[in-house]
Amino acid sequence: MCTGVWPVFQSLITQLKLISSYPALPNLMQAEIIAIGSELTCGSKLDTNSQWLSRELESLGWTVSRHTTLSDDMNAIVNEFRAAAGRARVVLITGGLGPTLDDITRDALAEAFRQPLVRDAESLQQIEALFVARGKVMPERNHRQADRPEKSQALPNSCGTAPGILMRVESSTGHSCLLAAMPGVPAEMRPMYERQIQPHLLDSSMVMCRRVIRTFGYGESEAERLLGDLTARGRNPEVGITASEAVISLWVTARATSKDAAEVMCEDTMRLIRECLGETVYAEGNAELHEVVAELLTNRRLRIGLMEGSTTGGLMALWMTEHLALSAVVQEARVITGRWNQSAITSADSNSHAVADASEWPAIAARVARDVLQNQSVDYLLLSSPHEDVASESGVTLRRGSVAIAGPDMFQIFDTTMSGNLAIFRQRAARTALNRLRLFLTAK
Ligand code: AMP
Ligand code: MG
Repeated sequence: MCTGVWPVFQSLITQLKLISSYPALPNLMQAEIIAIGSELTCGSKLDTNSQWLSRELESLGWTVSRHTTLSDDMNAIVNEFRAAAGRARVVLITGGLGPTLDDITRDALAEAFRQPLVRDAESLQQIEALFVARGKVMPERNHRQADRPEKSQALPNSCGTAPGILMRVESSTGHSCLLAAMPGVPAEMRPMYERQIQPHLLDSSMVMCRRVIRTFGYGESEAERLLGDLTARGRNPEVGITASEAVISLWVTARATSKDAAEVMCEDTMRLIRECLGETVYAEGNAELHEVVAELLTNRRLRIGLMEGSTTGGLMALWMTEHLALSAVVQEARVITGRWNQSAITSADSNSHAVADASEWPAIAARVARDVLQNQSVDYLLLSSPHEDVASESGVTLRRGSVAIAGPDMFQIFDTTMSGNLAIFRQRAARTALNRLRLFLTAK
């Protein structure tokens, strides 16, 4: 019996050791964001405030652990304020500070932390002054915008009538939490955050560094397996994996007490990732694969030709003509519709390019490549075949296609068959061809 349990136990111990050998992510730095407004929960408006605030907080070293969106419902808001203050050190709230009866953030803060509402004389003056400046009389219902919980501070609003509220509360779990309520209108919220709230958050004592590594070649789970414990939760730096359009991105987030330390930690983890994933890593930062390839070609003064069947359908040409610097490396680009035949490809050697079925494509592609490389000032040619949809035995539709790269004394062909939608099939095929050229050029 023991023999079954022991290896599992051993592997658990090893994992725990690995995780605990990194500096722990300080949970003292947790922040939450609450967006209030029925217009958000019913879907008529998108909550963009939380995204903007998250980026701001993360750039200061805070970890945003939760976004909550609530309708204008008193009970739900009061409960959430208490719960969030019990979990996080900072809670940023937007919305619900308007003059109308559905704007209840002020009342909910007072109720959640059992404080009476007081009318802030200075805020009232400022709101009145705003109406005077607009040549209007302040309506009665705007008076309540000057209300705030007794032990809080009003934050003047330079762009509108709704002052914000800043308050520090002792949570039920014994730590202190800073709550800041801001107007929902983004143009009012942002300056209020930058001028009056951010200065209170700078003592986070942590700095964040975030970098990204782009890879092509492995699937998401294969990449994660190769990275081993690097993606373990609770590790600092944290490594997150996202997959988009056949590209796997590794997001490295380091938190430390200084910028330099965070950058060193980031760089260490990036090195480990590069070691684990090897040549599939094609860029650090936001560079696209085709931009990396274009740079390699430019540096070597090489020019390419593109001859695309429906497997990539012109996608390589589309990418490579995004701007002039990219197009400069493309000598010739053609999309061959339907079957490859003599008139579509070259006037020389009539009939020799007709493809009766997919199995003939490799031979004809090799012949076309030889012609193009001989007769035009092209150093490498990237080709893709016509594609066809075939039903597999399990009933799944397979998109069958190939790409090829040709250069002086070399011609290589790669199968890009996969199930899934046409857009992804084409992106993966186009990146397969470009990536092969990248690997070929970097190996030389
Ligand atoms: P309020 O402060 O609740 O009166 O919100 C005023 C307006 O600000 C709303 O009608 C929305 O157009 C906008 N707004 C409120 N909350 C958000 C949010 N989280 N993200 C983007 N816009 C918002
Ligand atoms: Mg509202």
